[in-house]
Amino acid sequence: MNQVFTNCPFCSNKMDAGLQNYNSCTNTTCDYVQYENPTPVVAAVIEYGEKQVVLGHNRSWPPKWYGLITGFLEKFEHPDECIIREVKEETGLDATIQSFIGHYTFKRMNQVILAYHVKATGDIVLDDELDDVKIVPFDKVKTWPGGTGQALKDFLENLGYSVEELSMS
Ligand SMILES: [Zn+2]
Repeated sequence: MNQVFTNCPFCSNKMDAGLQNYNSCTNTTCDYVQYENPTPVVAAVIEYGEKQVVLGHNRSWPPKWYGLITGFLEKFEHPDECIIREVKEETGLDATIQSFIGHYTFKRMNQVILAYHVKATGDIVLDDELDDVKIVPFDKVKTWPGGTGQALKDFLENLGYSVEELSMS
């Protein structure tokens, strides 16, 4: 989430709109500026079996929402390593990168999504984050608005599928 500091995390003085409207520390000897740079997030279109994709359901989501497997980079971690690790952690599957689909923005969360196509093998074992997955044939997948949905749509359209987009409600 986008957390805007009301007090400086370094010196505790009040934060206020400063130079170029960035949230800035009002203590002139501190000069901390909160730039609120977007956070990178990796997302996986997991191909599992013959022309099927694995979609995950996060515990905290409404029952009908299923999405790509996503995750935050660890300190100094390369996105290529991160995507393999996240797929393993969240689904138990062993993934290999097939291609980089593209980068997308997720404005509400101030994130940049790096989307990969991976192929995965093994048995699905869920961790705490997901409480369900579904395995959907490429020609039956419906996508959703927003960054990860667009990534899945681009991936499928590149393969020649026509894709229906769900409304998120
Ligand atoms: Zn400060």
